[in-house]
Amino acid sequence: MHGFEEELQSYNRQLKHGFSQLRFSEPLEREFRTFFARHNVVRQRGAIIVGIILLLALLPLDMRYLQDDALKYYLFSRIWITIPLLVLALVLTFRQALRRYFSLFSLIIITIIGITTSGVVVYCNRLGQPLPYEGIMLIVMVAFFLGGLYFRQALFCAIAIAVSYAVLSEALLPRALINYHNYFFLCATLLVGAVSAYTLEYQIRIGFLQRGALRNLAKTDPLTGLYNRGAINQKLNHLVYYAFREKKPITLLLIDVDHFKNFNDFYGHLQGDHCLQRVAEALSACCKRPLDFAGRYGGEEFVVMWFDAQPTEVEAFARRVKEAIEQMAIRHDASGTHTHVTVSGGMVTGIPASQLQSDKILHQADQCLYRAKDSGRNRIVIQDLGSEHDVISIIK
Ligand code: GH3
Ligand code: MG
Ligand code: MG
Repeated sequence: MHGFEEELQSYNRQLKHGFSQLRFSEPLEREFRTFFARHNVVRQRGAIIVGIILLLALLPLDMRYLQDDALKYYLFSRIWITIPLLVLALVLTFRQALRRYFSLFSLIIITIIGITTSGVVVYCNRLGQPLPYEGIMLIVMVAFFLGGLYFRQALFCAIAIAVSYAVLSEALLPRALINYHNYFFLCATLLVGAVSAYTLEYQIRIGFLQRGALRNLAKTDPLTGLYNRGAINQKLNHLVYYAFREKKPITLLLIDVDHFKNFNDFYGHLQGDHCLQRVAEALSACCKRPLDFAGRYGGEEFVVMWFDAQPTEVEAFARRVKEAIEQMAIRHDASGTHTHVTVSGGMVTGIPASQLQSDKILHQADQCLYRAKDSGRNRIVIQDLGSEHDVISIIK
């Protein structure tokens, strides 16, 4: 599969293959993670601010119930661990460069807050000043839904918090103070949270793939599967901009099938369509490097672009295209000039002199194509970009 087909099909293929493990194949997974990180940051910031407000609201309430050592331990964990970690998390959401790592930071921060909260709840219980264990369930829910974690991270975090509560209770509390209902409801919360969080991430991933597939559908020519005119213009603009900045040559070939109206009239429209599909296949096979692409400019006209082709390679590219069409040997008894389908082409090559040369390049390639048609068809006329009058060579 060629680079552009790969790009156009990747979302559809992943949708078809499924992803029950909540992981796409590369490079889609990387793209998803960038998307996920970018879209999560506002939610995470909001969650942290709400977390800080809730904590500050809870502080006076808890302080009314706690005394002596329990109060000291409680205040220590809140003032020196929980609040600084939340503030740190808030600061990190503003660091664009660290955005990629945020779910990891979030995982660490929520796990630490969860475990220290388990510690506070169990320790205060041990001192006979019980704090409600529901705070731990709340943190488990935050891990699943507000922390901006991937499902696996959230699951790890939630299990670590629940286990820490159970282990600390077993280690520090006398049997009589252990409430097994708490274990049960914590496990149930974990289960409900995990199922919902899995479904949520699954839906987010489906949405990501569907949006990508739709975007690509808008770029695709339905008959040939190549880029359509809009996508060609967009890609050409990008490549010209990039080639200008990097001082690299680009090579554009505009192709037109010879006597195609006669082909349609002679063989019928369906055969005509089939012929265009085969021409498209042949052209796409001529694009070998990642930035090269082929597209259907309209009707029976196609574009092939090569990025960073050396001047010595250009004629070989034109020859490759002609040979690919010749090798298909599609009969054309109404051609008038040949027995098989042939193409004419105008090719322009060079380093763009400005970022805004796409139209000029297309126009010059069109002029070359006109020359190729005018001088007998079945040939490719090649010019240097910017020198409209000097033909480098004609490939017959
Ligand atoms: P020339 O050698 O000068 O290019 O002659 P031509 O007949 O190829 O050029 P012309 O522009 O007169 O005809 C192009 C034809 O391409 C006319 C149109 O019916 C046909 N065509 C355009 N799009 C499609 C398509 O999607 N399917 C089919 N089957 N034919 C198409
Ligand atoms: Mg035409
Ligand atoms: Mg034609």
